[in-house]
Amino acid sequence: MIFASPRTCVALLSLPISIAFTPHRTQLPMASAPTWLSEPFCLPLSKSGPPPYCVWTSRDFRNGRGISIIATPEAANTLASSKWFMNAHLIANTSPSHSQPPGYQVTPLPRRGLGLIANSTYKRGDLLMQEAPLVLSSLSLENSHLGEREQGRLYRTATSRLPVASRKRVMGLHGHPDTTSVHDRFKANAFNVFDFAALFPAVARMNHDCRPNAAFYFDKHTFTQKIKAVRDIGPGEEITISCTSVPSTLAGRRKTDMSDVLTSIRWTDLSHYLPSAERSRRMHHHWGFTCTCHLCSSSTSQIAASDARLHRIRELEVLIYHAHSQPLASGTENTTDSTLLAEELFNLYKEERLDGALARPYDSLVAAWQNRGEGGRERARAYAEAGVKAARLWPGPRSAEGARMQSVLGV
Ligand SMILES: [Zn+2]
Repeated sequence: MIFASPRTCVALLSLPISIAFTPHRTQLPMASAPTWLSEPFCLPLSKSGPPPYCVWTSRDFRNGRGISIIATPEAANTLASSKWFMNAHLIANTSPSHSQPPGYQVTPLPRRGLGLIANSTYKRGDLLMQEAPLVLSSLSLENSHLGEREQGRLYRTATSRLPVASRKRVMGLHGHPDTTSVHDRFKANAFNVFDFAALFPAVARMNHDCRPNAAFYFDKHTFTQKIKAVRDIGPGEEITISCTSVPSTLAGRRKTDMSDVLTSIRWTDLSHYLPSAERSRRMHHHWGFTCTCHLCSSSTSQIAASDARLHRIRELEVLIYHAHSQPLASGTENTTDSTLLAEELFNLYKEERLDGALARPYDSLVAAWQNRGEGGRERARAYAEAGVKAARLWPGPRSAEGARMQSVLGV
């Protein structure tokens, strides 16, 4: 990926575990694999004052691939006590290795640095890659009491303690090998996972596209970032992802008030809903690059048409939210038929080529047809079937959308 300033792609997840930890304990649990290097590196060095941020490294995690965690002792203990680490040997056996399959290759691209080019055919839904993180850094570090220099030392230590092959993968990410700091590499290439910024060096090779042909989500079961094709991809085509995010579904936010929902839509970092000019401004601000994807290189009239569709999508999602939240607000039967709105929404997603986010409008379609009662049951079920497949691409089979639509199928 060719980004050059601090922001991370967002996976929109929260840590699903709550495990008691021992404050300031710098020894991580070692009841099972992996084993941690006995001495963490902590800053500040003084024993008094606020809790330090430390680097813990395991070199045998994931069959010798290794992992480093940068966090306070409390946060690191919570993570290291989770099933992903306490039963790491089980997880390692359930997922393929991170190694690059032969279906694509890293290739230099004009004005785009390195990118992944497919050399075989992928079908929509195919798993392109899955990779466990090499470095996890607590999101709170960026705004902590530690300065840029101290944070840089933590990132350098986290990388240098990894096994040699993994260290090379981190140092091979975008940036001059001698002049670009590890910290900068991390900030330019990391993804948000739970309360951490996570580095997946192979995934980070994928360039951004505002209408990408692949999508990612973090799979809690395998502790890996999964990349799936959202359209058919042919040989010679670049595989791209979007470092934009979609707010959590309105349907899933029925208990929040509307001002919260509107704020979420409006300000979510680099949301799909953003019009072209604002999208470009934020990309430049966050990553320091000008997007040259097909959409951003389109004619002025095509970009204006795209912006109009995005505006209508935002409008429709708010209208549908209102329609579906009426029963909860009033306790009365919902008499609004939102099926036409939901169908218009679905068509706009398709027209706008938001192929990786179709679980959203499917979810709205299912809810709208369910609201019709018995008469809408068959259609709701048909849309749920398609929606469950869409959710497997993004935001994942275990997402709220996926689970909601799966429940309609009663399986
Ligand atoms: Zn673009």
